[in-house]
Amino acid sequence: MKRKLPLSPANTIVLDPVTGKLAQMGHIVHGPKVLPYTEAVCEECGRVYGRRREDQRFCSTVCRMKWWRKQRYGGIEPELGVGICVVCSSPFTKTRAWSKCCSEDCRIENRRRQVKEFLERKRQAAVAEAHQEA
Ligand SMILES: [Zn+2]
Ligand SMILES: [Zn+2]
Repeated sequence: MKRKLPLSPANTIVLDPVTGKLAQMGHIVHGPKVLPYTEAVCEECGRVYGRRREDQRFCSTVCRMKWWRKQRYGGIEPELGVGICVVCSSPFTKTRAWSKCCSEDCRIENRRRQVKEFLERKRQAAVAEAHQEA
């Protein structure tokens, strides 16, 4: 049986929806067995999707990433919402789970502080070492 591929010009580089890796149409490398079209329910969003691999559990890379992120944070999707800027202490809307600063200016300031701290630690280490040698 000939496997049906989505209509696309030959040799088009696409993002494989299963692995999220770059794949060349017609040259997608599959690990586990490729299934004939099977319907499955996404473990993340509950949507029915066309399963293409035996071990596929999610409808998309987005859902797979979301699920894994939840595992890491103990089953809770990290709250993006509002954060407190580590530099100026003002609340801001987070754009990423790890956002720490409210603005580009504060981000630069935070970076500057980190560099300063790093240099200070290095200086202290050098002093300690000099003492040891003396
Ligand atoms: Zn999904
Ligand atoms: Zn700030």
